[in-house]
Amino acid sequence: MNGPVESGEEMLSDADEPSYTQHDYSRLRIGEFDERYIFEVCVVDWHGHEPHANWKRFRTWQRQPSQKQLDLAWSKALREKRFFRACDECGDLTNVGHMHGLVCQRCAEHAGVVF
Ligand SMILES: [Zn+2]
Repeated sequence: MNGPVESGEEMLSDADEPSYTQHDYSRLRIGEFDERYIFEVCVVDWHGHEPHANWKRFRTWQRQPSQKQLDLAWSKALREKRFFRACDECGDLTNVGHMHGLVCQRCAEHAGVVF
């Protein structure tokens, strides 16, 4: 094959540069039975090499929360050690599922740990 090589594409895998955005790591859902608004935060959990989103209930409201309430809940979630931790090496806030002991997976990889 002599077409242009699509560089970069294949380099991206699940473990590369996870972006810790509110959109990816939290969601608002309406309870099936009680119809409350449930704010959930994702903790990544691994089934072999497959990442799985493990959603944890963090806040609930009787009525639809405002954007301000959601932003506040998210900023609190970021400070919860059961969800996110700061890497000892680079200081990046990292989902606990992407931590390797006290450092993030990227720093662990730089230190020679193979996943
Ligand atoms: Zn790090």
